[in-house]
Amino acid sequence: STEDPWRPFNRSRVYMADLESTLHYSLRMEVAAHTVIKGEALIALKKYIAVLAEYFPGRPVVMNLLKSVNSWLQNQIGGEISYDAFKEILDNSAQSPDTALPEGVRWVGCQGSQPHFRRYPCGVWTLFHVLTVQATNAEESDPQEVLYAMRKYVHSFFGCRLCAEHFENMARESMMDVDTLSSAVFWLWSSHNRVNNRLAGALSEDPNFPKIQWPSPEMCPACHMVKANGDHQWNKDQALSFLLSYFSSSSILKDYLE
Ligand code: FAD
Repeated sequence: STEDPWRPFNRSRVYMADLESTLHYSLRMEVAAHTVIKGEALIALKKYIAVLAEYFPGRPVVMNLLKSVNSWLQNQIGGEISYDAFKEILDNSAQSPDTALPEGVRWVGCQGSQPHFRRYPCGVWTLFHVLTVQATNAEESDPQEVLYAMRKYVHSFFGCRLCAEHFENMARESMMDVDTLSSAVFWLWSSHNRVNNRLAGALSEDPNFPKIQWPSPEMCPACHMVKANGDHQWNKDQALSFLLSYFSSSSILKDYLE
């Protein structure tokens, strides 16, 4: 059977296979929907690739590929590129065996109980969290750089147009308040929780992966506080250290890679 076999996984870990699958889908499927990339979309793609080349905590082969795509792209000074030209650089692994983005998807932590659940959108969130956390290790970088790159990528390319609209509205509302690298991690975390809250119980929710205010008390007891009046409150210091550790490159599992 050609059906994707179920891959057992730990629900409280991040998998490199999901991150690489997300890059494959993003760069070979989503960006490919544009035969010609120009204007706002070209600026968005340049920013996105630059951020990936800088912060993606990938295997050496994948990093070599991202860096070569990045230097090619930043050298394109004309007003437009064709997707075919971009794809040629992306698929250059035939020339150099130490430079490649694996073909195809192997979802692991982003597997859903049905094929239409989870997968790529789950991978996108995971990738974005990983990148904001990676950026906290960089000194003297613009605290909004990674969020800005994601915002522009989503705006120009993300296939779910309604999602893109919602995300842009949240960004327009509150992204300007991000003034440190940790507040960028926080912004994405709380924006994701707002989306979870909106989507809880919706048809798009995988019944085996309910939308929750994340992380659950089981995953991070110290992140949760109950106020005297019984209301829930996050312990922000604990939540930040949880996020930094959960999405750190050293916590990413390498199972199921080719
Ligand atoms: P996801 O929400 O995709 O999360 C993936 C994993 O991240 C979870 O399994 C969990 O491990 C972790 N996680 C969960 N919450 C957090 C958090 N707050 N911080 C850090 N990590 C967390 N769908 C719609 O129907 N309407 C929309 O408007 C919409 N907007 C979207 C906007 C963006 C930018 C993206 C990337 C996706 C959007 N989606 C939207 C898709 C939706 O948010 C989910 O990605 C999809 O339903 C799959 O859900 P999931 O169960 O895999 O969990």
